[in-house]
Amino acid sequence: ATDFGIDKALKTLGVKDINDGTSTGSNNFSNGDIIESYSPVDGQLIGKVKATTKEDYQVVMEAATSAFKTWRLMPAPQRGEIVRQFGEKLREKKEALGKLVSYEMGKSYQEGLGEVQEMIDICDFAVGLSRQLHGLTMHSERPGHRMYEQYHPLGVVGIISAFNFPVAVWSWNTALAWICGDVCVWKPSEKTPICGIACQNIAAEVFAENNLPEGISCLINGDYKVGEYMTKDKRIPLISATGSTRMGKIVAQEVGGRLGKSLLELGGNNAIIVTPDADIKMTVIGAVFGAVGTAGQRCTSTRRLIIHDSVYDKVKHAVVDAYKQLRIGNPLDEKNHVGPLIDIDAVAMYNNALNKVVAEGGNIVVEGGVLSGEGYESGCYVKPAIAEAKPEFEIVQHETFAPVLYLLKYSGDVENAIDIQNNVAQGLSSAIMTNNLREAERFLSQAGSDCGIANVNIGTSGAEIGGAFGGEKETGGGRESGSDAWKIYMRRQTNTINYTTELPLAQGIKFDL
Ligand code: NAD
Repeated sequence: ATDFGIDKALKTLGVKDINDGTSTGSNNFSNGDIIESYSPVDGQLIGKVKATTKEDYQVVMEAATSAFKTWRLMPAPQRGEIVRQFGEKLREKKEALGKLVSYEMGKSYQEGLGEVQEMIDICDFAVGLSRQLHGLTMHSERPGHRMYEQYHPLGVVGIISAFNFPVAVWSWNTALAWICGDVCVWKPSEKTPICGIACQNIAAEVFAENNLPEGISCLINGDYKVGEYMTKDKRIPLISATGSTRMGKIVAQEVGGRLGKSLLELGGNNAIIVTPDADIKMTVIGAVFGAVGTAGQRCTSTRRLIIHDSVYDKVKHAVVDAYKQLRIGNPLDEKNHVGPLIDIDAVAMYNNALNKVVAEGGNIVVEGGVLSGEGYESGCYVKPAIAEAKPEFEIVQHETFAPVLYLLKYSGDVENAIDIQNNVAQGLSSAIMTNNLREAERFLSQAGSDCGIANVNIGTSGAEIGGAFGGEKETGGGRESGSDAWKIYMRRQTNTINYTTELPLAQGIKFDL
């Protein structure tokens, strides 16, 4: 690991030799069981973190609720200034944090850097937004009355995040929540706890330099049981949860049961439609990066290629050829395209999907398999696989969080492809490759893709922070990041002011005393 500068990165981030959950500020409160974090890259132990107990959680919540009282009073543009400083710190530590993300999660170093860049971008976005938390004014029907709406901070925002974007998803939430005047309590994935501590350390530095309470950003560690402290806690008006649909259904019920708000970012089953007019070269790049990037562990990874029968063989051969060039290995080594899966359980799910597609009558065109031997000691490296399948196969209806790509055939009109694309439970990302304007517009119309993200001549994978990010149906309906996604982090209030000496009632109601 030292070959790739991991030791230096861990030192820079203040997470070298973590073995007792020690961190700065709020996280010092953790006293529970030890969580060990092993790298999927080389199987080495990175560090040990203590889980947060129920008692620890109460201390954290006290820190958070008390910090909220200070933070909400700071003018939003001044909160923006703190977020600007946080973005600057991320710029300074970009290489170190990108490396840790790569080492603890297993994505390529380039993608690790990309994830930190997303954090920087959302900070920049949030700084501008801190001067634009606009409400509307409207004309009152009553004389001498003024009416407007305003947005106020919500309170403590609970963030539960997944392993695959161990740092960016937190920042999408916090950067916006902070400028909105909220404080955040974050439970990162138990599979990437060191990334959580590294981020907390960076935030803590900024708060300390500004004499602000660190409770504005709190970290709790552990598995779903620790997540449940937050979902059951009435003091938390908003839970933002990113992860599997299975998790989202439980969280939605728990939070809904107490009429809290939840922002859910759940699984996808993303497809690219390849029409007769598609640019094949672009299709291959989009499809291959979409299917094998992050070893198929992005919520927006391409799972299905829905190809018109007239170009089916051509596209299939081009994609299969491209797979022959893929280099699988240490993701910190920039010459490799595909890194490991997160852990052995993920490898088992990958094997299971390949067995299932064959059992259902699918035809493997690029063989999968688990790699062993030198460089693959962690047991988490698998070969990206491709199977020809039918849309109705059970396995094709599910999200397998691994590099398995299904080729599906359609004939006739683009409507048939759109039907196949929409006919799954998930609704995150979708794409069409076409140079035909009618097909593209049909795909984007109200009778087109039912996903939260619909792209033309781009793959399904990845997104820019400027747009609202999220999906429909079993993807959970939440929107994060750009556009007006900030509104969920605030409470809306309508205000009417009477500046006369009369008290006229609305709707002309008379109430004479
Ligand atoms: P996961 O559902 O296993 O875990 C996600 C987080 O939820 C973890 O922090 C976990 O501890 C917590 N959790 C699980 N059950 C909980 C419960 N009952 N109460 C409270 N917290 C609970 O997901 P994962 O394996 O870490 O991540 C992969 C999944 O995340 C994929 O399905 C992927 O598509 C999805 N994902 C979605 C998006 C998106 O924006 N839509 C982004 C990234 C990942």
